[in-house]
Amino acid sequence: MHKHHSALGVATALTPAAPVTLIRPAAAARAARFFTEKFPGRSLYAVKANPSPDLIRTLFASGITHFDVASIAEVRLVADALADAEGQAKLCFMHPVKAEEAIAEAYHVHGVRTFSLDTIDELEKIMRACRGATDLELCVRLRVSSEHSELSLASKFGAELGETRELLMATRQAADALGICFHVGSQAMSPQAYSDAIERVRAAIVDAAVTVDIIDVGGGFPSIYPGMEPVALENYFDAIHRGFESLPISYSAELWCEPGRALSAEYSSIIVRVERRRGTELYINDGAYGALFDAAHIGWRFPVALLREEESEEELTAFSFYGPTCDDMDHMVGPFMLPADVKVGDYIEIGMLGAYGAAMRTGFNGFTSESTIEVSDEPMASLYAETVAPRRRATVIKLG
Ligand SMILES: *Cc1c(COP(=O)(O)O)cnc(C)c1O
Repeated sequence: MHKHHSALGVATALTPAAPVTLIRPAAAARAARFFTEKFPGRSLYAVKANPSPDLIRTLFASGITHFDVASIAEVRLVADALADAEGQAKLCFMHPVKAEEAIAEAYHVHGVRTFSLDTIDELEKIMRACRGATDLELCVRLRVSSEHSELSLASKFGAELGETRELLMATRQAADALGICFHVGSQAMSPQAYSDAIERVRAAIVDAAVTVDIIDVGGGFPSIYPGMEPVALENYFDAIHRGFESLPISYSAELWCEPGRALSAEYSSIIVRVERRRGTELYINDGAYGALFDAAHIGWRFPVALLREEESEEELTAFSFYGPTCDDMDHMVGPFMLPADVKVGDYIEIGMLGAYGAAMRTGFNGFTSESTIEVSDEPMASLYAETVAPRRRATVIKLG
């Protein structure tokens, strides 16, 4: 893989005609170290946020040894990426609705012992696929509110309070270790999301009167985007720790979390080129079917920077983007703030695409790009760049 010092260096040296994905392993390693050092329990990386084998190896080398996988393809991918680690990595199959064949392969071929579920049917499926195994860690997924999050995960999965008693008791019978897990929704903007969810966990434990060995608070830890600047992650960790400590569980119970976005967002960005300008609309060469799905479909804003050797003196102006495909849906409203004199041929870096960006690229209409370059400059924003002074607001770093 090519390496360059900076995004600007890539744009000026290569003048790429297709979008380029920039990766910043140092930023991902920093995020991994932050979670391994400061989260008061174990951190599993949620692979769906970005399944890049390079990223998985980077996280592993920085202390993330457990991986939350959701499909048999992700099981195989992590097993392959970490084949040299000789069984030091542990995979947890945390999708509550799985194919029986996938469970069987995960258990019998890849040594997976941890599965999540939210119905008795799924519990029976797991027991059939694992042929009545007695070494299972089974996590019952509770439904919790997504009200503090930018992206809801509340309606699809999770047992309701009325159903949890029977399910927890049956799972306790079948499991070697019983866990309770939930997901507060992605980009949770307040630690309260976790405190509230842990109260649901408490109610479920009291109601079922079972011994619980694992509390898994899921993902949802935020990253930093324009207009979405969360309080420092330590505040989330404190709220979770307080809630966990107050639960009626044994002293040896474990606390887990499953960050996807927070571990991967800073890992990559893209460089795009302006192919046409119409007023404040820029036609760029990546879009809704590329790395900008969230920008198009849920109006997510990402930081942008004009990559010119000579910095523009013009005032920042609100732009929207059109992607390269032939349909109107390939449109990102933004606003993306760029100097007023942006013109055809200019390069723009769009940041914070390591989570749910690069991972969702398709080849629709023939527009896709495999070009990936490692850079050593800072990501466009970071929740981790200033970890010495906790409980301060996150700091945005301007490219400059
Ligand atoms: C998507 C997902 C995650 C990761 O969520 P983030 O918001 O990216 O942290 C973790 N756990 C489960 C079960 C998920 O589906």
